[in-house]
Amino acid sequence: MKTKKIRHVLGISGGKDSTALAIYLRERYPSLEIEYYFCDTGKELDETYDLLKNLEVFLGKKITYLQGVNVEGVAPFDHFLKLNGGYLPSSSVRWCTRKLKLAPFEKFIGDDLCVSYVGIRGDEDREGYVSTKPNIQTIFPFRKNMWSKEMINKLLKNSNIENLVGLYDTLASGSVRARALAVAQEPISAKFPQASKLNSLLDISIESFNRVMFAYLRTINSVVGQLEDFPLLDNEDILAKDDIFRILRESGVGMPQYYTEIPYEVEGLAGTYHRSRSGCFFCFYQQKIEWIWLYEQHPDKFAESLRYEKDGFTWIQDESLADLVKPERMAQIKKEHLLRTQLKASKKKSPYLLDILEDAEEGCLSCFV
Ligand code: SF4
Repeated sequence: MKTKKIRHVLGISGGKDSTALAIYLRERYPSLEIEYYFCDTGKELDETYDLLKNLEVFLGKKITYLQGVNVEGVAPFDHFLKLNGGYLPSSSVRWCTRKLKLAPFEKFIGDDLCVSYVGIRGDEDREGYVSTKPNIQTIFPFRKNMWSKEMINKLLKNSNIENLVGLYDTLASGSVRARALAVAQEPISAKFPQASKLNSLLDISIESFNRVMFAYLRTINSVVGQLEDFPLLDNEDILAKDDIFRILRESGVGMPQYYTEIPYEVEGLAGTYHRSRSGCFFCFYQQKIEWIWLYEQHPDKFAESLRYEKDGFTWIQDESLADLVKPERMAQIKKEHLLRTQLKASKKKSPYLLDILEDAEEGCLSCFV
């Protein structure tokens, strides 16, 4: 029987982590034929498009731009905004991600079998976007556990213990085998939750765990299990924020320019600000200081964002953009930001201001990873 072709894809959001993942996989696993894509809302910052160009040069390959809709002269975001009756998206009604990020991605893949690589870092505790479509399997190469929750649940569930033990028995050797068998045999319980079992097995050997998972995936209807070989099985790297900065620096691709710290002054005190994420320049997830950054660094984009606010719809729940940029309000936001930054810096050891501020990061994993 002819094996179906399996696609390998990586979505570039314009943020640092997905960019670093593309560089990392290209350098470490050059045999993987990865297709790169970018879901373009038509409302990104120029810095994002510049980063994509730099990355294309490094990869020696084009990034496919996907659009939720193709109407000449109309940005995809504006098209869907009209369909939504001018109702601006928010964290609770996030039609934008669905229409502009997820739908174009799933259309791009169609019914093809596909491995999708996502740049959630090893120092993050989040899962990232995992498609519910059975033909798409997500892999997280920067994490200690590169497999999705769904795959872990299947492998480690108590009803699969016999199988798990059999796989370790066959595939592991020496002291790894002995220690892993002891853990594999122990059922998950309130005292020994799944997360502990997973961590114990990974602590014994990440590579052995990966080989066991791969062998298991071959026995169920999974995409990765249908690959002849999966080069990432030997991957024991766990990459955190510092590693991401290093990868971007050493590759020459560099950090997205909007991360650059820009000095500001407020009441005789000196602070710095930057934008902390990729995505639409008017994204409702941005912090108030980032709106001020937009107002001062990209006045045209701020003016455009302002024009969307009408008929009672605003980007920020409790404040209009017009109010936000009144001089006394801007000074207040800058001052609060400065104090918060100083406080966090005194608690954290990291030398990176970006690192210090990013704790507040939340939002759409399709847009910002
Ligand atoms: S960046 Fe923000 S506004 Fe744009 S699609 Fe993502 S969540 Fe929506």
